[in-house]
Amino acid sequence: MGKIRVLVAKPGLDGHDRGALVISQALRDRGMEVIYTGLRQSPAQIAQAAVQEDVDVIGLSSLSGAHKSLFPKVIGELAKRNASDIPVIGGGVIPSEDISFLLENGIKKIFTSGASTEAMANYIEELIDPKKESPKPPEKIAHIGIAVKQIDAVLPFYTDTLGLTLEGVEKVDSEGVKVAFLKIGETRFELLEPVNENSPIQEFLSKKGEGIHHIALEVDNLHERLQRLKTEGISMINDEPKNGAHDSKIAFIHPKAANGVLFELCEHNSRGEA
Ligand code: ZN
Repeated sequence: MGKIRVLVAKPGLDGHDRGALVISQALRDRGMEVIYTGLRQSPAQIAQAAVQEDVDVIGLSSLSGAHKSLFPKVIGELAKRNASDIPVIGGGVIPSEDISFLLENGIKKIFTSGASTEAMANYIEELIDPKKESPKPPEKIAHIGIAVKQIDAVLPFYTDTLGLTLEGVEKVDSEGVKVAFLKIGETRFELLEPVNENSPIQEFLSKKGEGIHHIALEVDNLHERLQRLKTEGISMINDEPKNGAHDSKIAFIHPKAANGVLFELCEHNSRGEA
């Protein structure tokens, strides 16, 4: 396919377009054709420009707080011109409270001010280019990892008080831990006991004491996903998949990428048993 054509537009009255210009440049750097409408465009002008320029997608930027009325008006103006097939995405200063309203009113995706331009470019490519596929969201919580000093000492809470069944205990050499697996519905608790001084779990216990250590998300295509996270500048603890428990491949995202939560990405082999 040819170059993806993007209309970047600023509806409404706010007079700042630094953000829109930064995004326009980032999309150009990714090989897209970007048409920028300039400041203070009406929804009708934006829809008209999108049709005239035959764009593949419209990116609306708003800092004025009027996005709840202006963004849906753009959708309405596109419909009047039989151009509802042009997807509209939005960004700028959009409070999270407003996102579901905008999605319900025809905006395909909202990027909040914390979003990276790389994530936006990836999203647009995957939306427009049929050859690019967006990764599926994680399917479930594979397990919740809990750091403990001694599995034997904490096990009664899980097996007796909660009544869960201990499925097994396994040593994971790559992490320097012994792991006890307790099934709960579709997911598991993993009690993590350090087996040597170099174990990251030992370090965690020394710093923070016992408690929740990480949340593991079940994903597919771990390798491809890691490549993509790298391009989006997400800090990783592991750039490459490594071996986890139960014959899985795992990689940890750095907690600074998720405001202090340590996430593990976990891909189980296709034999089914997780
Ligand atoms: Zn884990």
